[in-house]
Amino acid sequence: MFRQLRLAGLKLRQAVQIKEKNMAMQTDPVCGMQVDDQKTTAKSQFQGTNYYFCSDECKRKFDQQPQQYASKAGRAQSGGGSGQQGGGSKR
Ligand SMILES: [Zn+2]
Repeated sequence: MFRQLRLAGLKLRQAVQIKEKNMAMQTDPVCGMQVDDQKTTAKSQFQGTNYYFCSDECKRKFDQQPQQYASKAGRAQSGGGSGQQGGGSKR
Protein backbone atom coordinates (compact mmCIF):
# COMPACT_ATOMS: atom_id res chain seq x y z
CA MET A 1 0.00 0.00 0.00
CA PHE A 2 2.59 2.51 1.08
CA ARG A 3 4.80 1.43 -1.74
CA GLN A 4 2.09 2.18 -4.25
CA LEU A 5 1.56 5.59 -2.78
CA ARG A 6 5.23 6.39 -3.02
CA LEU A 7 5.33 5.24 -6.61
CA ALA A 8 2.38 7.40 -7.49
CA GLY A 9 4.13 10.40 -5.97
CA LEU A 10 7.22 9.71 -8.03
CA LYS A 11 5.23 9.44 -11.20
CA LEU A 12 3.50 12.70 -10.48
CA ARG A 13 6.82 14.43 -9.95
CA GLN A 14 8.17 13.05 -13.21
CA ALA A 15 5.07 14.19 -15.04
CA VAL A 16 5.55 17.73 -13.77
CA GLN A 17 9.18 17.74 -14.84
CA ILE A 18 8.26 16.50 -18.30
CA LYS A 19 5.61 19.18 -18.55
CA GLU A 20 8.13 21.86 -17.67
CA LYS A 21 10.54 20.53 -20.25
CA ASN A 22 7.86 20.62 -22.89
CA MET A 23 7.33 24.28 -22.17
CA ALA A 24 10.81 25.08 -23.39
CA MET A 25 10.16 24.73 -27.07
CA GLN A 26 12.13 26.91 -29.41
CA THR A 27 11.45 27.74 -33.01
CA ASP A 28 14.04 26.72 -35.53
CA PRO A 29 14.61 30.00 -37.41
CA VAL A 30 15.66 28.19 -40.55
CA CYS A 31 12.75 25.83 -41.20
CA GLY A 32 10.27 27.05 -38.57
CA MET A 33 10.01 23.76 -36.73
CA GLN A 34 9.45 23.53 -32.99
CA VAL A 35 12.63 22.31 -31.34
CA ASP A 36 13.12 21.01 -27.82
CA ASP A 37 16.13 22.90 -26.57
CA GLN A 38 16.79 20.17 -24.00
CA LYS A 39 17.13 17.54 -26.67
CA THR A 40 18.72 19.18 -29.65
CA THR A 41 22.46 19.33 -30.05
CA ALA A 42 22.27 21.81 -32.89
CA LYS A 43 22.55 25.21 -31.26
CA SER A 44 24.08 28.47 -32.28
CA GLN A 45 24.55 31.85 -30.72
CA PHE A 46 24.22 35.10 -32.58
CA GLN A 47 24.32 38.58 -31.06
CA GLY A 48 23.82 37.20 -27.58
CA THR A 49 20.75 35.16 -28.49
CA ASN A 50 20.61 31.40 -28.53
CA TYR A 51 19.09 29.69 -31.53
CA TYR A 52 18.09 26.05 -31.69
CA PHE A 53 17.79 23.86 -34.74
CA CYS A 54 16.12 20.59 -35.60
CA SER A 55 19.25 19.33 -37.29
CA ASP A 56 22.87 20.13 -37.99
CA GLU A 57 21.88 21.01 -41.52
CA CYS A 58 19.67 23.88 -40.34
CA LYS A 59 22.41 25.03 -38.00
CA ARG A 60 24.85 25.10 -40.89
CA LYS A 61 22.48 27.19 -42.97
CA PHE A 62 22.04 29.60 -40.08
CA ASP A 63 25.78 29.87 -39.50
CA GLN A 64 26.27 30.80 -43.13
CA GLN A 65 23.83 33.72 -42.99
CA PRO A 66 22.94 34.38 -39.36
CA GLN A 67 21.63 37.89 -39.98
CA GLN A 68 19.10 36.72 -42.49
CA TYR A 69 17.58 34.07 -40.23
CA ALA A 70 17.87 36.03 -37.01
CA SER A 71 15.85 38.90 -38.45
CA LYS A 72 13.32 36.49 -39.87
CA ALA A 73 12.80 34.90 -36.49
CA GLY A 74 11.68 38.17 -34.94
CA ARG A 75 9.51 39.56 -37.68
CA ALA A 76 6.90 38.26 -40.04
CA GLN A 77 8.30 36.91 -43.23
CA SER A 78 8.60 39.55 -45.88
CA GLY A 79 9.66 38.11 -49.19
CA GLY A 80 12.80 40.10 -49.63
CA GLY A 81 15.40 37.38 -49.94
CA SER A 82 17.89 38.08 -52.67
CA GLY A 83 20.07 35.09 -51.82
CA GLN A 84 19.96 31.62 -53.25
CA GLN A 85 17.58 29.50 -51.25
CA GLY A 86 17.73 25.76 -51.14
CA GLY A 87 20.03 25.47 -54.09
CA GLY A 88 23.25 24.98 -52.22
CA SER A 89 24.80 21.63 -52.90
CA LYS A 90 28.35 22.69 -52.16
CA ARG A 91 30.24 20.71 -49.61
ZN1 LIG B 1 15.21 22.89 -39.11
